[in-house]
Amino acid sequence: SPQIVWFRRDLRLQDHPALCAAAARGPVIPVYVLDDERAGNRKPGGASRWWLHHSLESLGKSLGRHRSKLILLRGDCVAGLARLAEETGAETVHAIQHYEPWWKDAEEELTGHCDLALYDGNYLMPPGSVTTGSGTPYKIFTPFYRALSRMMPPRDPLEEPALSLPDEWPHSDDLDEWGLLPTKPDWADGFRKQWDVGEIAAQDRLTDFVDRVSAYEDDRNFPSCEGTSRLSPHLHWGEISPAQIWKALEGKRGQGVQAFRSELIWRDFAQNILCQFPYYPEESYRQAYRDFPWRNPNRGHLIAGELEAWQMGRTGYPIIDAGMRQLWATGWMHNRVRMIVASFLTKHLLIDWRHGERWFWDTLVDADYASNGTNWQWVSGTGVDTQLFTRVMAPLLQSEKFSAADYIREWVPELAHLPDADIHDPPPSKWPEDYPERLIEHREGRERALSAYRDMKGET
Ligand code: FAD
Repeated sequence: SPQIVWFRRDLRLQDHPALCAAAARGPVIPVYVLDDERAGNRKPGGASRWWLHHSLESLGKSLGRHRSKLILLRGDCVAGLARLAEETGAETVHAIQHYEPWWKDAEEELTGHCDLALYDGNYLMPPGSVTTGSGTPYKIFTPFYRALSRMMPPRDPLEEPALSLPDEWPHSDDLDEWGLLPTKPDWADGFRKQWDVGEIAAQDRLTDFVDRVSAYEDDRNFPSCEGTSRLSPHLHWGEISPAQIWKALEGKRGQGVQAFRSELIWRDFAQNILCQFPYYPEESYRQAYRDFPWRNPNRGHLIAGELEAWQMGRTGYPIIDAGMRQLWATGWMHNRVRMIVASFLTKHLLIDWRHGERWFWDTLVDADYASNGTNWQWVSGTGVDTQLFTRVMAPLLQSEKFSAADYIREWVPELAHLPDADIHDPPPSKWPEDYPERLIEHREGRERALSAYRDMKGET
């Protein structure tokens, strides 16, 4: 009898254990359900929807090569899958396990309606499975990293299976009618220029990066050069698996590949945190920060204006404005710059990290519940494993130290004419008229942040 494969953030045909298991048992009905209700205010944001559209289109095409197709349903995923199973007489729904709380609830509910088989496949190790000798999960990255490294390599990636087809195809929605792409206005021009979406594009990007990995350790902190892999949206949407990436790097030695693997392990670590604290991205983990004297944008126009200036890349700090504009234009931002802009929002502007997390959620093509929440709390100092709140990054120095001049030229055209010596911190005489003034001076912002911290601690 037919087997349903339920795709979510695993939009690939290779190394897909659920697809392989289904294909071994009978004709396959591949399904994607757009369920905006269950995720509530965590439904995919605007940039994610753009990516999702193209990724589904690409998956549909790849299935077409097997003369198969992707069935698209919209609405409650449990009801939709249960109905589909009944209609088609499917024996089992096969799916790769997901750990966002809304997906976990859906998985549990679905088992009450039909036979659900779950598989691991989106992480190096199944989230929750890397534990200390006494069986407790890790809260700190370094011991987690060591423990997971000892379990490597991951199992070998699986081949794309041959698919047999059902006698009849159920009804499918038309992707174009889902309205995932922006129309009025169509803001996605920069996205189209930046990204090729889908499994084949992900593989191409990996191949290209494998040749550059030896320079990763040196280059990855420099936003002006393409030193990182830019695989994050492909990984988030599951167009490629970390096991495939690990395999492609087999035989590579040196600092570059070590450092890169460690970043992949951060991705697993974030998921491991989410397994322990399912709502981690919703509030500060550390109790003291839940009552922290953040300057709340809901309570004042001035502060709301500052949040907006940050979002729009109009803070008067070239490196920050470059990052925020890159994010807006392409749905992605360099990691070093993500840290700088997050530190600026939470410390210089003293705005609750959750406002930044939300903005990223809506604007990143790799917006990931676990990774975004974990990184925001890491920078803000509010998390489990975290930087100190008192570590306030100095944006102007960071910009110089990591040679961001060309990056600024690319994203902040008002400053493009300035020489390297001036572009990080333009002198007043060369400050362009159309470039906004600084929201706050570094020293003042830093002092205010440290003083709020002392208040929280009850120090005078
Ligand atoms: P590479 O340097 O090539 O790294 C390879 C892969 O490792 C990445 O694709 C990613 O999957 C993973 N990775 C790298 N760094 C991290 C990290 N710090 N935490 C978790 N995984 C990591 N990453 C997301 O995937 N989604 C997010 O929503 C997200 N939000 C972030 C928010 C803030 C405030 C910060 C500071 C970082 C955030 N990151 C997030 C982590 C990191 O910035 C991106 O994963 C990285 O910039 C993606 O670019 P890349 O693929 O070229 O990375």
